[in-house]
Amino acid sequence: MESRAVSPARKQHVVCVPYPAQGHINPMMKVAKLLHAKGFYVTFVNTIYNHKRLLRSRGSNALDGLPSFRFESIPDGLPETDVDVTQDIPSLCESTPKYSLAPFKELLRRINAQDEVPPVNCIVSDGCMSFTLDAAEELGVPEVLFWTTSACGFLAYLHYHKFIEKGLSPLKDESYLTKEHLDTIIDWIPSMKNLRLKDIPSFVRTTNPNDIMLNFLVRETERAKRASAIILNTFDDLEHDVIQSMQSIVPPVYSIGPLHLQDSELGRMGSNLWKEETECMDWLNTKAPNSVVYVNFGSITVMTAKQLVEFAWGLAATGKEFLWVIRPDLVAGEVSMVPPEFLTETADRSMLASWCPQEEVLSHPAVGGFLTHCGWNSTLESICGGVPMVCWPFFAEQQTNCKFCCDEWEIGVEIGEM
Ligand code: UDP
Repeated sequence: MESRAVSPARKQHVVCVPYPAQGHINPMMKVAKLLHAKGFYVTFVNTIYNHKRLLRSRGSNALDGLPSFRFESIPDGLPETDVDVTQDIPSLCESTPKYSLAPFKELLRRINAQDEVPPVNCIVSDGCMSFTLDAAEELGVPEVLFWTTSACGFLAYLHYHKFIEKGLSPLKDESYLTKEHLDTIIDWIPSMKNLRLKDIPSFVRTTNPNDIMLNFLVRETERAKRASAIILNTFDDLEHDVIQSMQSIVPPVYSIGPLHLQDSELGRMGSNLWKEETECMDWLNTKAPNSVVYVNFGSITVMTAKQLVEFAWGLAATGKEFLWVIRPDLVAGEVSMVPPEFLTETADRSMLASWCPQEEVLSHPAVGGFLTHCGWNSTLESICGGVPMVCWPFFAEQQTNCKFCCDEWEIGVEIGEM
């Protein structure tokens, strides 16, 4: 793959900076691979914590890269640990703008001082790592922000400041969390009709005026206006009106998805922080088309032990075969355990795993349905695999994705309160 005529030192050099969570690293890796396939020299910058996790999950040479695709790392500002955990999102949102900018600037200086490496021409950064704009402006290079959300989720975030101006957020107190209030119609976001307050990304439904996530999203969407362009992992046929209506608010927006269908040459370089259990693919190979329910709540969702047990007996009651991925940290504060009787009862028609190669699973012909938390990557991967969804949104813009899946695109049904 390194046989291009242009020598590495003369290529255009893009620095890619994902937000340090799985659902952000995966799509950024795809963008990086595509840019590399187009002839760019790529530097991919993980946090030190995730860099180490990737080495543990994928093997010690997994991040050796290639002469024109290199990995670097910067601190995330959180206390150091070598334990594989899902890092706390609000803590990351607080710490990265404070503690990652100076090391990032220093990294750029170090890269640009190397003769054998081409000078940095461009930064592609996650929309939630907008501190990188300061470094790009100082260096005098353009920066493209990659919002890894759906367009509908991003458009809702772009209106967060209006929720505050209209007195709709923060909620005055807990009594506003009633069904009646959450059903309040929000009909003033252009191109998004029939939304209820409960369909807006979750952080708006806080009662705390100092809520880290609410304030973070207001700040990041405001800063997005400074980017040279914005890219989204979606496609025009799916979200045309929403994409159009944000063009007047932020710099030019380009829909470049679904990214995982745009295969590049660097397949070997994966980005899963958990070790994939590939045995489930062998198990799926023995199953009839459309016969298996696939259950996975992504990399961040946490639930109570009671909810896990509810899901277990619900799955048992379907009588269907199922593949259920249960992350070790899926249950808040406890080891994720399903009842032993459930295991005995469903042993002949189930497969449990702790992490799987999801894109492959969702494009496997045996998978006929997906019980999902509606993370945007999972939703897109399901759409591309042609798999209908049962939706149990957890947080962030997953509620908005769920609403669009069920009511606009008619490819999902929502599970009610549990
Ligand atoms: N994923 C995976 N194996 C798993 C669970 C998740 O490969 O067992 C991948 C999935 O394909 C997706 C990402 O992790 O690309 C999860 O992103 P998503 O936006 O769906 O949810 P999040 O984890 O951000 O809540």
